Amino acid sequence: MHYPEPLAKLITELSKMPTVGPKTAQRLAFYLLRAPVEEVERLAQAMVEARKEIRYCSTCFHLTDVDPCAICSDPSRDRSTICVVEDPKDVIAMERTREYRGLYHVLHGAISPLDGVGPDDLKIGNLLYRLSTGEIKEVIIATNPRVEGEATAIYLAKLIKPMGIKVTRIAHGLPVGGDLEYADEVTLAKALEGRREL
Ligand SMILES: [Zn+2]
Repeated sequence: MHYPEPLAKLITELSKMPTVGPKTAQRLAFYLLRAPVEEVERLAQAMVEARKEIRYCSTCFHLTDVDPCAICSDPSRDRSTICVVEDPKDVIAMERTREYRGLYHVLHGAISPLDGVGPDDLKIGNLLYRLSTGEIKEVIIATNPRVEGEATAIYLAKLIKPMGIKVTRIAHGLPVGGDLEYADEVTLAKALEGRREL
């Protein structure tokens, strides 16, 4: 294109981000060029800091800057229940409902043979290890209501039920094929309340 080199570089980097096409990348780049230098520096610093300091909790695999994460180390949480989700964004969605007071476990995906994702690619072994301590009485499976999420729920139920732990699945009513992260708080709270045993 006809951009000066540093600007071309900025647009190239911005356009790598999800949902940012070349036009949006150009708009963002021009915004940054007009913004005060201090503001751009704060943005750049926030990006680097978040990338360097945020990691996964070694217990539940949610995003955190301290290990174990704030939820895992909160003494007021119910330690007898684990809610299993696919993605850290789903933890945020569940927390927004303010209905759930137990712990979480983030699988980082769902079983999807077509995409080459098997059980070993997910944090399932770590979940089974947590369950082996005997403290957990119920596992709520809150994977997304799509084929992969359902397959993962059935797979987990088969593994967990023989351990003598109650396994429940959040109710339908969530839009099929939709993601937890896009469900509103009321819908999600109702899905949690209406969970059924697997
Ligand atoms: Zn944690």
